[in-house]
Formats: sequence, C-alpha cells, structure tokens
Amino acid sequence: MSSGGVARGAALAMGAAAVAHVGPGVVAWRRGRCAVLPRLAGIGRLDHVALTFDDGPHPVSTPLVLDALERFGWHATFFCLGSEARRHPGTLREIARRGHEVAVHGDTHRSHLLRSALDVSRDVISARDSIGELSGQSPRWFRPPYGAVAASTLVGVHRSGMDLVLWSAWGRDWRAGQTGLSVADEVDRTSTGGDTVLLHDSDITSTERSWEATVASLEVLARRWEARGLVVGPLREHF
Ligand SMILES: [Zn+2]
Repeated sequence: MSSGGVARGAALAMGAAAVAHVGPGVVAWRRGRCAVLPRLAGIGRLDHVALTFDDGPHPVSTPLVLDALERFGWHATFFCLGSEARRHPGTLREIARRGHEVAVHGDTHRSHLLRSALDVSRDVISARDSIGELSGQSPRWFRPPYGAVAASTLVGVHRSGMDLVLWSAWGRDWRAGQTGLSVADEVDRTSTGGDTVLLHDSDITSTERSWEATVASLEVLARRWEARGLVVGPLREHF
C-alpha cells in the first residue's frame, strides 16, 4: 500500500474508531474500506478466497479447524496472539507443520485505540517475535484486535516490517446461537468477490464453543465455493 493509502486508511479508521465486533457502523465501515482501500480489506484475486482465522492458537478448537481444512485440501492464514502462542506452543507449531501461514493478531487482545504508539509498537513486535520463534515462520501479516486501526497501529506495523490486512467478508462466528449454516450465510452476505474471509479458531474473545459453528460452516462453504469454482488458500497466495 502507498503511504498516501496508509494515511487515508488511518483517517478512515479513526473515523470508524471503537469498532468492536458489533454494530451497524462496523458493517458500513467494512463496505467502505472494500471500496476505498481494497488491499487493506484483503480484496485479491477474484478466483480466490483467502481464508483466515483469528484469536488462536487454542489447544481444543484449533486442531479441529486444522482437521477440517485437511479434509478439503485447504491451507489458510492463522492470525495468532502472542499470549496464546506462548501458552500453547505445540498447537502453534502444528499450524505451521501442516503447511498453514502463521500471522500476527497482537500480543494481547486489546484494542489499539487509546494506547500510545510506543505501547502498541512493543505489543506488535513482541507478538511477531514470539510467534515467529515458536512457529519457525517469519510472519508477514498483521491484523489488529477488533480490526480497530489507530495511528499507533500504523506506527507499530511499520516498525515491525509486517503488512496490515483486515478482511472483506466475515461469518460473525463469535456470536451466540450461530450454526454452520448461519455462519456460511453471513460469509456469503458480506462477500464482495476476491474476499479475505474472517473466522475464528478460538473462543477466547467469543461465545463459549463458538468454534463449533465455525468448523461446521467450513463444510457448507466448501460446497458453495466449489460450485462457484473458487480456489481457497492463505493470504500469501491471494494478491
Ligand atoms: Zn480477535
């Protein structure tokens, strides 16, 4: 992304601030960034879906996601937390061992809004180092908690040498009462083409066992994406 694009993204992000996982403002912002900042939104090849999972690694649910991905022959990108990577290093290594791309979601799951640039930079770099050392990969992508991009996020990401990417479609799989079908329907509803799809392989910031619907949604999405001739892969193959 150009520096002008980054600055414009920062301005837009500030306007959309405080975007947690809820509220109509988030949807409007998601649509806005797809149109104005397609690269930040993860819009890539039109024949390709970049499948991404946030908030792991989790010792119970991440392996279930990995098994499902293996059934479909897919590889994905996992935006991991440094705190969870240190707690569950074996699960993180398993993500990498099975050929998936490891990326960074922060050291802790705290919004960057209202935090200093120094604090955020330390968080981002600490997460990059923990996740990199434990996984054996050099993470390329960063996605902030809640997708909330502050000026401090841009500083931290720049210092870390990673690329910032959010998402263009999501399953809202963190909410209570979701099923595989409802998560897949939400992905379809928010799809714009060339999507980066946000799902979660952990429930640490979601409704308890929300990953059951996430895992179930993959079966539904596999049928739909295959029928549309879409190829599924990690972000490294998306642009
Ligand atoms: Zn998250």
